[in-house]
Amino acid sequence: MELTILVPCFDEQCVLEEFHCRLMATLKLLNITREVLYVDDGSQDRTAELLDQFALSENVRALHLSRNFGKEAAMRAGINDAQGRAVIILDCDLQDPPELIPLMVHEWHKGFEIVNMQRRSRRCDSWVRKTAARVYYAAMDQLINDFNVPKQVSDFRLIGPDAVTAIRAMDDSAGVLKILVSWLGYPSTEVNYDREPRQAGKTKWTSLSLLNLGADSILAFSIRPLRMYSYLSTTSFAAGLIWVVGTAMFGDITQQHLLVQSILLLSLGTAVVGEYVGRVLTVVSPRPHALCKRAQP
Ligand code: UDP
Ligand code: MG
Repeated sequence: MELTILVPCFDEQCVLEEFHCRLMATLKLLNITREVLYVDDGSQDRTAELLDQFALSENVRALHLSRNFGKEAAMRAGINDAQGRAVIILDCDLQDPPELIPLMVHEWHKGFEIVNMQRRSRRCDSWVRKTAARVYYAAMDQLINDFNVPKQVSDFRLIGPDAVTAIRAMDDSAGVLKILVSWLGYPSTEVNYDREPRQAGKTKWTSLSLLNLGADSILAFSIRPLRMYSYLSTTSFAAGLIWVVGTAMFGDITQQHLLVQSILLLSLGTAVVGEYVGRVLTVVSPRPHALCKRAQP
């Protein structure tokens, strides 16, 4: 099998039938062996039932997770289960047009191990999403220097055979897939496309989950925040020392400031270190990314 089209789905009953039709029509034009692997990420609506219907066709499978683990875990479960050498990840809300699959395969056959689909604009996004994206990429630029993370690229990409093997070998449960793919450093290309508005249903992302994804992207791949904190606390300690000496020489002028400063530093330090300890716990935990409820009938 050459290619797996991996589609994570969570409560997508409104859009799935149209998506499946468009996907199948596109795959007919593709001249390589392929399968479609739907991952049902613990949906509560009719998604599971629809996927089981689709899975009656040849080369269509449905993997049902035991509960909602989140898109990251659903993608990992799908990559681990994929039978194709290469994997294309596609959202099922038709924001990532299935019609672009042949173009992605063409780029892969040209020799690119990773084909990132890069959105031309964020016209359909809300102001909050646009601002969050701007802050996210600015933070990535500042905090991750060892490798390049392409901008305006989400999970819509082709991952070639070597990269798939590498990702499977790394049980990096704290990492974010799109950053991990950049970290691999394999030959990659960006293809521009216009991201459509969601065709039906609503986005599953909340402001908090976006914030968590941002924190995970940085903290799993960079210890810079920790280092910046070390510099800050060292500078602050030196300033405090000067204050203490100044107080001893010129009288009680800064005792209160010093106390407030120490409390602030202590709480900031606990927060920064705590975030990293949390990630260590996630990585050393023997739990898998996600559990399957049942295989397809
Ligand atoms: N998704 C998922 N698990 C989740 C949330 C989302 O599998 O917990 C799937 C969802 O069904 C869709 C894709 O991930 O196919 C992208 O989700 P969404 O459209 O909500 O994200 P957005 O496009 O707004 O970033
Ligand atoms: Mg979407």
